[in-house]
Amino acid sequence: MTIRVTVWNEFQHEKKADHAAAQIYPNGIHSTIADFLNAAGFQAGTATLDEPEHGLTQEVLDNTDVLLWWGHMAHGKVEDAIVDRVQARVLAGMGLIVLHSGHFSKIFKRMMGTSGNLKWREANDKERIWVIEPAHPIAEGLGEYFEIPAEEMYGERFDIATPDELVFVSWFTGGEVFRSGCCWYRGSGKVFYFRPGHETYPTYHQKEVQQVIINGVKWAYTKPAYVSQVVNVPEFMK
Ligand code: ZN
Repeated sequence: MTIRVTVWNEFQHEKKADHAAAQIYPNGIHSTIADFLNAAGFQAGTATLDEPEHGLTQEVLDNTDVLLWWGHMAHGKVEDAIVDRVQARVLAGMGLIVLHSGHFSKIFKRMMGTSGNLKWREANDKERIWVIEPAHPIAEGLGEYFEIPAEEMYGERFDIATPDELVFVSWFTGGEVFRSGCCWYRGSGKVFYFRPGHETYPTYHQKEVQQVIINGVKWAYTKPAYVSQVVNVPEFMK
């Protein structure tokens, strides 16, 4: 079965012609990500903030196995009713991959129950992403580490729920470290946070970054599973 993916992007920076993001992602970050996911054999569509219901109607979500989320400057514009809807789908088994500045999105904070706070600096740091769980499916095809030549720095402490599985830890030129590949189980669904992807760097064009996202989609996909309910079990087995 082909995994159905929806790539959600607030799609604000890239619409400003003078913004660096418009040069790097002329059709939007979501299009770049959907393109390499489709090339990898997934069935990937896109949704953006300015579409009706942010492009995330119940029908779209019901037909999404894994949802990717990129947001930065417009987290507050995402309607709470849509966040409720996305959360319900994750608890019912949809995978959710939150990218970069999505750490401050309503849906990520909802899934974590924490602030999502972190340290940051825009100064062209080199990022070295260490694979600390090489047998994890999200690390497939990667070496001991890979590097992104220039990125925004994110540093600890990252205010998240303690990850159920920690796959990557980043080191930056400034000496900071960061839990940059984190997995959680929520209800019948899975959540993966992956750090890189500041909009003024060509990060999502980099091969290793694409590999991690492809691996992440495979990991976050859950075959239709039972969804736990409150059940009064009437009698003991005999
Ligand atoms: Zn950023």
